[in-house]
Amino acid sequence: MPEQILVTRSSIPSLEEYVEEIKPIFESHWLTNMGVKHKQFQSELCRYLGVDNIELLTNGHMALELTLQAMNLQGEVITTPFTFASTTHAIIRNGLTPVFCDISPDDFTIDTSKLESLITDRTCAIMPVHVYGNICNIEEIERIAKKYELKVIYDAAHTFGETYKGKSTASFGDASCFSFHATKVFNSIEGGAACFRDKKIGEILYDLKNFGIHGTEEVSAVGANAKMNEFCAAMGICNLRHVDDEIAKRKLICEHYRERLSCVEGLRLNVIQENVKPNYAYFPVIFEEKMFGSSREEVFTKLAENNIIARKYFYPLTNTFSAFHGRFDVSQTPAALHISRRVLTLPIYADISIETVDKICDIVLSCKK
Ligand SMILES: *Cc1c(COP(=O)(O)O)cnc(C)c1O
Repeated sequence: MPEQILVTRSSIPSLEEYVEEIKPIFESHWLTNMGVKHKQFQSELCRYLGVDNIELLTNGHMALELTLQAMNLQGEVITTPFTFASTTHAIIRNGLTPVFCDISPDDFTIDTSKLESLITDRTCAIMPVHVYGNICNIEEIERIAKKYELKVIYDAAHTFGETYKGKSTASFGDASCFSFHATKVFNSIEGGAACFRDKKIGEILYDLKNFGIHGTEEVSAVGANAKMNEFCAAMGICNLRHVDDEIAKRKLICEHYRERLSCVEGLRLNVIQENVKPNYAYFPVIFEEKMFGSSREEVFTKLAENNIIARKYFYPLTNTFSAFHGRFDVSQTPAALHISRRVLTLPIYADISIETVDKICDIVLSCKK
């Protein structure tokens, strides 16, 4: 067993497989700027995700940030604070105003019963997050967006490979943005992608990820540099061959955790959603101290003492970040605050051993009083 068990461990192909994949890059000396591997990865992803329109980017954050820019939005974007910093930052870095909606305490995604009351005449979009791979209330979000003519951009960073009612999570909303960061279910070392309904968005994104350069002699937008390089694309191509096996292994790990940790008073596991093919990206546990006898902090510390590094995803809430100098009122999102103070995500990855999972469960259960 390795010294320290972290919350995740990056999936990688064999060295031989990767070397084979990058050989053409060494032969061509074409390292980045939409080369052969970039094109190949893009088309393989379209096939895997079951979509026609996809733009590759350096990371998931730039997928969110540039997609918002490509839509040329102004005003307020309704989102949730129970997410990674990236979601909120993407909104603010575009000069847009985040308006925080609370989350459903059951699946931690945006509480659509509270959404409509937050819409003003300045609202331009909704940016919901499929937290831990739990799928948002797609139908209700669609209905509200249509009624008020709002754009919907999903932060789909946690949902790679998932389907809802048989449809790829890449196909929902006006756009869905993925992260292929090393820590995610599927990685290209660093990487990300935006999937979108309107082909026009793709043309704008293509320019925006390359400084806004259009053709060769025109710069028509204030873009960024967010191109995926050939080595990352090659890693993505390799990992894509194995991702279904990895998800199948994660399923077994998740099932073992559930066997050991369900029906414990004061300890709540993630929902199993109907109509969803999950990817088992995270294994969150909610600790209700009054019933469990120990707090989330105590369990976290106990695990850390045993070299097991669980994570408090997502704590703190983004609407409490010191970067925002008290600009947002956290009392507006009480369910998110409640969950963020009680959640711990336990280590899960394809090749974690059942013995390690048992050890983690033993430690967690030893905190029950
Ligand atoms: C990882 C993540 C991102 C950002 O993706 P990067 O590839 O790390 O830039 C955005 N949103 C959520 C919910 C994430 O988990």
